[in-house]
Amino acid sequence: MNKKILIMDRFSQESFLFLNQQPGFEVVRAESPQKIPLEHLMTANALIIRSKTRIDENLLKNSPKLQLIITATSGFDHIDLEATQKWGITVMHTPTANVESAAQLTWALVLACSSQVLVGHRGIKAGEWNRESIVGLELSGRTFGIVGLGRIGSRVAQIARAFNMNVVAYDPYQEDDRFELLQAERSSYEEVLKTSDVISFHVPKTLETDLMLTRSHFEYIHRGMILINTSRGTVINESDLCEALERDYLRAVGLDVFEKEPLPRTSKLINYPQVVLTPHIGANTDEAFYKASSTAAEKLIRFFTDGSTSDTLPPRVAWYGATPFGAGPKN
Ligand code: NAD
Repeated sequence: MNKKILIMDRFSQESFLFLNQQPGFEVVRAESPQKIPLEHLMTANALIIRSKTRIDENLLKNSPKLQLIITATSGFDHIDLEATQKWGITVMHTPTANVESAAQLTWALVLACSSQVLVGHRGIKAGEWNRESIVGLELSGRTFGIVGLGRIGSRVAQIARAFNMNVVAYDPYQEDDRFELLQAERSSYEEVLKTSDVISFHVPKTLETDLMLTRSHFEYIHRGMILINTSRGTVINESDLCEALERDYLRAVGLDVFEKEPLPRTSKLINYPQVVLTPHIGANTDEAFYKASSTAAEKLIRFFTDGSTSDTLPPRVAWYGATPFGAGPKN
């Protein structure tokens, strides 16, 4: 009996063909990532999803044959892992596929903010040539603060070192070795906020990281810092951020993620000239897309051929205890 694989979202054509050529699989593509057709849900053995497909208890109740879910993403807050554990469904993700792309986008925002790239760009498009009024910030010798020294935070730290910056980082869940390897100084969150010329957030969405940066923190941040967030929009209180911008506490801000996505057209953030915004495109490169698709396809084949798993969810990491599902049983 063939294993039925339902692909819910964007998936590379190469990996689709690769899966289709494997004996013992029937591969079906859904029309919309948001809605799983009931006839397929009843018969699917595996789902390949991205973040637009939400997995909840209700869906699992209606999937009698489902054994495996693979999300071709690094984030997994779209999956109720307590429910997948309860229903005995194996879940895997592809956490390394977009590390390079996300770190690169982070640095694109850092450089746009420090070298005033968009101010110059907009001026020229408006017929101006304001050389004298556009003054950048030299990064070399300054302090780069990282909150969350995981996969992406570590890559961002390496690039900061290449810019000859001092790196300070806050991550209570990482061992000292990682800080040493990256030549990053282990600091408290407060110290990172107080000393960084550039600060960049690379934390997962958890109860601890929700609203990690609010009015009370903006009161003591290093004045004139550049703030970058490519992790999750819930980390920063956006109305407090707007207040900090109005008080001139920040030199510039680069954001790829927002409290509400798509960012509402009425958001005040759109109007500040010193704020650079991108529409959650940290993982949007061809390379990250192909890597995520091929990794998902390989994981799926291994699971059904020899039962092997990797990058299973919930993750075996200490911070998982700080998620809404963290109180549940761990795998
Ligand atoms: P990761 O799990 O490798 O690293 C996260 C790090 O944060 C870990 O080292 C963990 O110990 C640390 N951490 C957890 N709780 C913390 C806390 N309260 N304070 C400080 N540190 C804490 O994850 P990653 O792959 O590096 O991804 C980082 C974030 O980037 C995630 O939120 C992910 O969803 C997001 N992301 C966004 C995009 C995008 O398109 N913008 C792309 C990829 C990943």
